[in-house]
Parts: sequence; structure tokens; C-alpha cells
Amino acid sequence: MVPVRPPRPDAAAAEVAASAAAAPDWAALADLARSCVACPELAATRQHVVVGDVPLTGRPRLVVVGEAPGATEDETGRPFVGRSGALLDLLLGEAGLARAEVAVLNIVKCRPPGNRTPKAPEVARCSGWLRRQLDLLGAEVVVALGLSSAKWFLGPRTVLGQVRGRAHDVDGRAVWVTYHPSAAIRFGPNGAPRAALAADLHAVAASL
Ligand code: SF4
Repeated sequence: MVPVRPPRPDAAAAEVAASAAAAPDWAALADLARSCVACPELAATRQHVVVGDVPLTGRPRLVVVGEAPGATEDETGRPFVGRSGALLDLLLGEAGLARAEVAVLNIVKCRPPGNRTPKAPEVARCSGWLRRQLDLLGAEVVVALGLSSAKWFLGPRTVLGQVRGRAHDVDGRAVWVTYHPSAAIRFGPNGAPRAALAADLHAVAASL
């Protein structure tokens, strides 16, 4: 019988994790992340490393985690500022949450060319930044937007429709998963993803 070999550790992912773990605060982490070149293709094509938005207090009521920056986010250096961001802000507001009291992050900090789905090694490399961000923010309640983010928290076999609508305990955090605003836009204002996203954000807000 051939023994199962564990995958070889990705040296770049290990370097990111070590750098992130050593960052004493958000500002230090942001400085380090902005010069990260662990993913050669993304580092060569991005305009900005989109580190994330945090409340001025540094202690968010809620942490929202999407997939990766899009074109507008890459241009501006801020997460969720395009059409998806506008819808997210609207639905957060309808749920009674101001964007200013929410931290907004992505699992991958650099825009994949053509908005393709991030590749597994890119997600693995960027994970060190996100893990440290969640720790530094003291994140207790997290909303994962879309399947890539849901899989980051709940594992690769996650089926969004089966796990949305309730909190999951992940490393002591309450993690909710729901549809990405881009899916809500794609299916239109009367589509099921928008209704589910709105309902889930209301449920999260009620739990705070
Ligand atoms: S996606 Fe993340 S790990 Fe990859 S280069 Fe950008 S910041 Fe570094």
C-alpha cells in the first residue's frame, strides 16, 4: 500500500504566516501586506493590495469577509466599493448596521486578473494575513460572503445553501455564511440570493 503523503508546505505561505503572526498591530500588518509578493501573478498585475477597512475604534461589531478585490477595489485600494459594495452597505443599513462599525476584509488581498476565482495556492498564501487580521480585530462574529469565503471558514465541501442562515462555531467565533452581493446583483432585485443575503444580515444583526 502506498503511504499517503501530506502536501508539501508552500514556503511562500509559511513566510506570509510568519510575517503576519509577528505584526503587533493593524498598522504594522497593513504595511507588511502592502509589500507582499507571495503570489507572483497577482503581485505583477495588481494596482493595490487591498488590506481591508476597519472602524476607527479598531473594534468592529461585525467582520465581513468576501473573496477578493474587483477592478474598483484594485483601483482605490479599498474593499467593497464598487456595485457589490454599494449593495452591501445598503443591506447592512437595512439590517441596522452602519458600514463604519463593520470591518470589511477579503480572503485574498490582491485582484485576480479578469476577476477569476482565486487559485488554491493564492488563498493558502493569503490566509496568514486574514488569520492575523481576525485575531487583531478580536473578531467574535464573522459573515463570510460567497462560496470561496464560506469554504475558507467551513471547509472545501461546503455547500452554501445548506449552511447559511445560522451561526457556526469556528475557533470560538460565530461564523455565518451567505451569498456574495455580486450574486445578489446577478440574480436581480427579486432574486433569491438578494432575499437570502438580506435575511441573513438581519439575523446576524439580531444576534449581536
Ligand atoms: S494575494 Fe495575498 S499572499 Fe498573494 S501577493 Fe497578494 S497579499 Fe500576498
